[in-house]
Amino acid sequence: MARYTDAVCRQCRRIGEKLFLKGERCYTPRCAVERRRKPPGNSIPRRRRSSDWALQLREKQKARFTYGVLEKQFRKYFVMARDIPGVTGDNLLQLLETRLDNVVFRLSFAESRQHARQLVNHSHFTVNGRRMDIPSYLVKPGDVVAWKRGGNNGSVPQFIQDITEGPPKRTVPIWLRLDSGRRAGEMVALPDATEIDTNIDVRLIVEFYSK
Ligand code: SF4
Repeated sequence: MARYTDAVCRQCRRIGEKLFLKGERCYTPRCAVERRRKPPGNSIPRRRRSSDWALQLREKQKARFTYGVLEKQFRKYFVMARDIPGVTGDNLLQLLETRLDNVVFRLSFAESRQHARQLVNHSHFTVNGRRMDIPSYLVKPGDVVAWKRGGNNGSVPQFIQDITEGPPKRTVPIWLRLDSGRRAGEMVALPDATEIDTNIDVRLIVEFYSK
């Protein structure tokens, strides 16, 4: 499965804003955007007015980097979103939010989406009781995402206890219901665009692909 393997902080620096791809570190002075405002590379940035196309491209890249999706798959999401009745931009956001790795992140089971993706890849989760190791799996309303218990005795590994003990580190969105006792979460409804915590302007992305 293809994935982005370069330093993720470069993506924030390229976009020119914090995308919060690394969890805790993003909230400290060690954040690369805080330390170096200029884009990656040796060239001296030229000041010029961005064209409409450049703004649309930037927004599309921002969404891609935020959700950790490569170009080909992102385009597929756009085509799927266009085929679903309703507002294409809202549908796109909804599809991205229902990815399993994003749901794991939103349930506060991981520091970042990248961390969530790694946990899913390593088979630490089940969906409706069945092992699921595909980060792009689209979770549906009624699906229950739970940590997989380890070992033959069904014990919970220490690192899972460390992650799930105490209150969630982030606010769990209202379209998900966290059951801390069972170390699981249920999607109670599809996320509405107004309920999604993001600063991505999907309208620009739709314009980008509509050219
Ligand atoms: Fe982006 Fe976080 Fe890296 Fe800062 S620390 S540049 S917000 S990924």
